[in-house]
Parts: sequence; structure tokens; C-alpha cells
Amino acid sequence: MHHALRLAENAEGEGEIPVGAVLVDKDGNILGEGWNRSISLSDPTAHAEIQAIRMAGQKLGNYRLLDTTLYVTLEPCTMCAGAILHSRIGRLVFGASDYKTGAIGSRFHFFEEYKMNHFLIIRGGVMAQACRQKISQFFKKRRAEKKEAKAKANGA
Ligand SMILES: [Zn+2]
Repeated sequence: MHHALRLAENAEGEGEIPVGAVLVDKDGNILGEGWNRSISLSDPTAHAEIQAIRMAGQKLGNYRLLDTTLYVTLEPCTMCAGAILHSRIGRLVFGASDYKTGAIGSRFHFFEEYKMNHFLIIRGGVMAQACRQKISQFFKKRRAEKKEAKAKANGA
């Protein structure tokens, strides 16, 4: 999760909502990593999880990512939950809850709705405070910048 948080900083540096994800194999080797890049890539699907999953699939030469663990700083959305399902990831560990779009219990119960033919271990709230803080600080900063720009535009 420490590594995922560092990846989230990459997103922040690009003006994206700071979310980071890393996918590791059962020995802890990194197979894929990613951060939120929706704006910079003009791609609404470019969430951190999708980036990490894509990279791992390429690396393994396989569309099934069995026996892997995905660490992500924010609760996945329905799109990413779908990608986790299709990739057969074995374990999901996430940080902060997302009450707006979170699909792992906050807003939707994606995996409970599904009759899963594979077993996914889920653990949420890991380093939640640090993960949440990163996002809330980002929005706080962005609000302050917007306010400043508005004040400037008004000749203040
Ligand atoms: Zn997502």
C-alpha cells in the first residue's frame, strides 16, 4: 500500500485525482502498477486499477491474473470491480472508502450481487487515513486554486 500511495503521487503531479494501484504475484513481485490518468490520456477508463491490470496482463502474457493481489488506495468503482472480476485476481486490498462511486460496499455491493465462480478475498480500510488524506488534500488544494483564479479574474 505504501507503493500504491507513491503511485498516487504521480497522479497528483499530473493534476489527476491521486489514486494509485499495484498488482503483485503471490511472492510479492510487482506485475503491474498504475495511477489515475483519465484526464491526461483523455480516457475515462484510465483508472489506476485498469492501468495496473493492463500492465500485468502484458507482462504475464495472460488475461487471467490468478494468484495475484491488487492494492489500491481508493475503493474501486463498478468498472474496476468488473475488471477485477474478469481478470480473476485473487485478493483485493484497498485503502479509503469511496462513498460516491465505491463498488465494494460504500455505494454498490458489486461482488455480493455476483454469483462468483472464483473466490476473491477482500480487505478494505488498509492505511485508510493516509489514502483518504491524500485525496482530500488534493481537492482542498484544487478548491483553493480555483478560488484564487476566480479572484484574479475579478481583478482582486
Ligand atoms: Zn475505477
